[in-house]
Amino acid sequence: MIPSYQYRLKPTYDQRCRMTRWLDMLRYQYNYLLTDRFDWWEMNHCSINACPLVSSIAKPREKPTYYGQKRSLVQLKEERPWYKEVHTHVLQDVVKRVNLAFQRWLKGDGNGKRSGKPRFKGKNRYRTMAFSSMPSDPVNGNRVKFPKLGEIKFIRHRPLPEGVKVKRALITKKADGWYVTLTLEDKSIPDSATLDIKTTQDNNLGIDSGWECFVAGSDGSTKEPRRFYRQAEDKLAKLQVNRDKKAEGFKPRRKLNQRIAKLHQKIARQRKQWHYELAGELLDRADVLFVEDLQGSNMTGRGQPKQDENGNYLPNRLSARSGLNKSFADAGIAEFLNEILFYQAEKAGKPVIKVNPKGTSRHCSNCLNRVPKELSDRWHNSCPHCGIELQRDVNSGILIKKVGWGIASLKNANPSKGRRSQQRTA
Ligand SMILES: [Zn+2]
Repeated sequence: MIPSYQYRLKPTYDQRCRMTRWLDMLRYQYNYLLTDRFDWWEMNHCSINACPLVSSIAKPREKPTYYGQKRSLVQLKEERPWYKEVHTHVLQDVVKRVNLAFQRWLKGDGNGKRSGKPRFKGKNRYRTMAFSSMPSDPVNGNRVKFPKLGEIKFIRHRPLPEGVKVKRALITKKADGWYVTLTLEDKSIPDSATLDIKTTQDNNLGIDSGWECFVAGSDGSTKEPRRFYRQAEDKLAKLQVNRDKKAEGFKPRRKLNQRIAKLHQKIARQRKQWHYELAGELLDRADVLFVEDLQGSNMTGRGQPKQDENGNYLPNRLSARSGLNKSFADAGIAEFLNEILFYQAEKAGKPVIKVNPKGTSRHCSNCLNRVPKELSDRWHNSCPHCGIELQRDVNSGILIKKVGWGIASLKNANPSKGRRSQQRTA
């Protein structure tokens, strides 16, 4: 595990100006390198099923690549000497980011999931600079030393662990000021410190997550989602209406924009803190956690249009879904299950195991028969096969536990087979 610590910086006025100037320069360079890539791509790409009738008459030029663009930084510093002020590693990070954005758009990430077309960064959209290497012992008291930027004061709200090396640093401009994130390398902690825990009847917990219950454990406990965004929605709307009345490009509008940004920041922080507390609570209760393997983008999204035979559009519950999407995004389930819970579990040395959730909301946790339900049915009502009665999400939690532990399989569990096997045993 690579731990990182975030501190709030207290830069002087001069340092603030300098960092803002750096960010601006980096942003221009980002946009320039992106243009370079788009230009080449538009002139040279050709879809498989269509050959362009009009082709470029410009001399074919070398394809901009990661290393090619990195080399071009030397020329940049000659032509625009003010770029010499920026540290080389910070500039190289821009090339890396352009490369990544472009790769994710054309090829997709490791799982083949493609991102949208990279966008040019407007003012205030480029907020982070990365120092890929730091001088040895950069932290001295309440000051941290950056190459070329010099020493900057920070609020040391907690000490760095003893005997660690600062590998990288990020400086980020947030709504309420500047922050530094120090990425540490601690050789004394092995990479996988997960304890060798054997799953027994009592030491594990299956967790189902959903809209009504944020998490429902197989032990029958449930937790309601906290809707921080919904709570702040009225306040946010008022600020936005006020902001829209103010003329663009003047101070009152900028001030209101800043207040809106701070409110968003507050919502995100409230949610994050709650997630961390909840993860700690769950990990206190069990040694092994089973959670559903959740793909956030599968759960939110637009409904497909539905048509009848005459081509008239039928209701597809799009507006209901949009409310659901909002709640879902507000709760931040995907972030909780995929990031925070895993991070906290790794720190505690306890395993969290992802389970294929297929069928876990439709089957009975007691007899494993399929019991069809509507999304609106909140109770797993007296099962027709075994008569058990449970809250719907708790039922799913128990199933996730059973599937994860390997004492139940829902792979071949469909209604006909389930019934037949029951008849045979009867
Ligand atoms: Zn049953």
